[in-house]
Amino acid sequence: MPELNLILLGPPGAGKGTQADRLREDFGLPHISTGDILRAQVAEGTELGSEAKRYMDAGELVPDEVIVGMIIDRIGEGDARDGFLLDGFPRNEAQADALAEALAGLDRKLTAALLIDVPDEEVVRRLAGRRVCVKNPTHIYHVDFDPPKHEGICDQDGSRLIQREDDKEDVIRRRLEVYHAQTEPLIGYYDRSGALRRFDGRRSADEVHAHIRATVATLRMEEDL
Ligand SMILES: [Zn+2]
Repeated sequence: MPELNLILLGPPGAGKGTQADRLREDFGLPHISTGDILRAQVAEGTELGSEAKRYMDAGELVPDEVIVGMIIDRIGEGDARDGFLLDGFPRNEAQADALAEALAGLDRKLTAALLIDVPDEEVVRRLAGRRVCVKNPTHIYHVDFDPPKHEGICDQDGSRLIQREDDKEDVIRRRLEVYHAQTEPLIGYYDRSGALRRFDGRRSADEVHAHIRATVATLRMEEDL
């Protein structure tokens, strides 16, 4: 079986986590997110993890080369030998170059960069409409898509529903600005190399999934020829 070395791109609220879970089931690919790796390596106290911790303890951003080192270690592990799904990495062209170089060193290459495209206004509508139960944060509603029976009240336990700080519109718009500034150059980068595949993220999660799965299956067939 040819490898499936994939990158997942898309704004917050695009449903990347959901799609990553489904692709893992479809193709047995480990879902590698920068945040998870960072937490795991810090917890295990690896060399890179300890280095990252020093920056985080000082309230500083973990530098690119530390993150890149962690990701490259991770994609060399056994469960990622037949492929992987990267989420949250690369974040810029320098990281994309470092990834390409590391893959080439392992005699591998990127199969595709999958972009789940969602317009900003749709992202704001999805995220700013979320309401969470103050008593149990797994009780989640949406003012348009999944409203509670009584406005502002949790159906399950009658507690108050709140909008989390992260879901406030101005916070979402700032995240979108950062996303566009970081990701648009990457979209261009992968478009030029022919690796980019776009998916309409305004569709339902099931439709997006069906489209991505078909595309990835085709890519694998092509690699096999
Ligand atoms: Zn509740």
